[in-house]
Amino acid sequence: VIEMAGVNKWFGDFHVLKDIDLEVRTGERVVICGPSGSGKSTVVRCINRLEAHQSGRIAVDGIELTDDNVSVEAIRAEVGMVFQQFNLFPHLTVLENLTLGPVKARGLSRAAATERAMRYLERVRIPEQAHKRPGQLSGGQQQRVAIARSLCMEPKIMLFDEPTSALDPEMIAEVLEVMTGLAEEGMTMIVVTHEMGFARRVADRMVFMDAGEIVETGPPAAFFAAPKSARCRDFLDRIL
Ligand code: ATP
Ligand code: MG
Repeated sequence: VIEMAGVNKWFGDFHVLKDIDLEVRTGERVVICGPSGSGKSTVVRCINRLEAHQSGRIAVDGIELTDDNVSVEAIRAEVGMVFQQFNLFPHLTVLENLTLGPVKARGLSRAAATERAMRYLERVRIPEQAHKRPGQLSGGQQQRVAIARSLCMEPKIMLFDEPTSALDPEMIAEVLEVMTGLAEEGMTMIVVTHEMGFARRVADRMVFMDAGEIVETGPPAAFFAAPKSARCRDFLDRIL
């Protein structure tokens, strides 16, 4: 459902993505790891055109990502994204954060959007927080709101960029639990994370990036037990 082929990107003179080939099938869970600065965020940001690539092709659900806004909007409608920082609107309540997109971008009635928002707040297990503002919630709760907000747009694919790395340890588990639930329900997911326990449990495939390249990819069992490249081995030795 996601195809990246020969994707290259430069920031000025800096070659940040080098011939990236990545295919993700419907229902597949792919975890991307690698050192800081290796291009992980840039890969996921290119998929929904938060960054533009300069060569190669990207297609999502058969839609070719081109410079025209039609393809960008069509792809963004299918792809949800959750970031390290929760990016919630601080002046709106949780419920208002969740209904904004469905009402404005999807044309749902307020009642339908509210019903949907409450359904996804139940799903992330914080329906009782609906009328608070983000600042009144813990980090883990805010991230669960951010996930629910994405789900309210009913995306086909979810991209997560280090969703737990701004959280205290005791809040990481509750967010990973929500993500594991999504995976079990068959959501197609790309997750950038250093939570290797989660990766082992949930990933169908691991991708290791270094210096703008996909160095190694494979099922988690083989990936963790016997990484093929020295760069991947060194990385895993440092973080495990
Ligand atoms: P981290 O683990 O720290 O999040 P990452 O693997 O996600 O790292 P990216 O954020 O994709 O790495 O960045 C890859 C490289 O591109 C880094 O060297 C970064 O400094 C550079 N970079 C990222 N965004 C920009 C930008 N807007 N302009 C210039 N350089 C950038
Ligand atoms: Mg990053």
